Amino acid sequence: MPVRRESSFNAWVTIQIGCDNSCAFCIVPAVRGVEISRPFVDIVHEVELLASRGVTEITLLGQNVNSYGRDLALAQRQGGASDVRIRPMFAELLRAVAAVPGIRRVRFTSPHPKDMRPDTIAAMAESAAVCEQLHYPLQAGSDRVLAAMHRGYTAERYLERLVQARAAMPDLAVSTDIIVGFPGETDADFEHTLEVAAAAEFDFTFTFIFSPRPGTEAATMHDHFVDPAVAAQRFDRLKLVVERSALLKHRDRIGRTEEVLVEGPSRKNPGVVSGRTRQYKLVHFPSDTPIRAGSYVSVRIDTAAPHHLGGEMVEFLAEPSHKIHIPVAAG
Ligand code: SF4
Repeated sequence: MPVRRESSFNAWVTIQIGCDNSCAFCIVPAVRGVEISRPFVDIVHEVELLASRGVTEITLLGQNVNSYGRDLALAQRQGGASDVRIRPMFAELLRAVAAVPGIRRVRFTSPHPKDMRPDTIAAMAESAAVCEQLHYPLQAGSDRVLAAMHRGYTAERYLERLVQARAAMPDLAVSTDIIVGFPGETDADFEHTLEVAAAAEFDFTFTFIFSPRPGTEAATMHDHFVDPAVAAQRFDRLKLVVERSALLKHRDRIGRTEEVLVEGPSRKNPGVVSGRTRQYKLVHFPSDTPIRAGSYVSVRIDTAAPHHLGGEMVEFLAEPSHKIHIPVAAG
């Protein structure tokens, strides 16, 4: 499984491929097959190698990262290790990669709410390098729709785990995915989604209108497709709720000083530098001098919009440690 380098200072590290779930709207299990976890030591070695080259931020990548390692344990058991417990090893993996010298930030995507275990929450809270950021896909707030999607959790269980995660990490930023207009979704179902979205107070929400993906179970539910005009209205109503909560979350950060990993000059204004906080918030701040991508600075936040923050740089914290490659022209 390949390691995808995103830049010289951050990298995506694939930890598993495939998925053992069967969400009715998703084609992944059909095209990628069952979950296959990459060996634990290979992942840790890869992260050590990346760190030795100056990477300071990694994102662990998989379809259902928090079930990572269950297949490895099963294979050990089948190989004769009768004392091995069949359970995920994601919490141990998080702790191991977060302990690699030079790694300042660890993120992961995506966990599945039904597999969000207390040991993962504890590993996040207790590992300084693991960022206070969680992508936690809700998909729907109605238990009836969640069951039709085969998601394996109820809205109540989802919210309970969210409360536990926030109790362990008070500064946790939470993003989610929500689908509106899943086949059979009634007005009452949608009202539940609005209620759960409001209760969850997400920092950011990826909202989608259901569209049938050929080859999935949901694509065969023609008799229950929601009128597109109704789905569009629901989408607009949901958007209002989630944008309001995103703006409130951002306003809460005004006056705080945040650690920012610099990504480079803003695309719109070269006099402005952009970067990300530990909560993956996009921050813009003015700078008279260029700041190398991969640097860490602190920024005092003074403005907030639903999708970004603005502020003033307070302090330069760390130079990037990756090398700059200067192209040499051939003679
Ligand atoms: S949505 Fe995610 S968990 Fe569900 S089947 Fe697709 S990849 Fe698996």
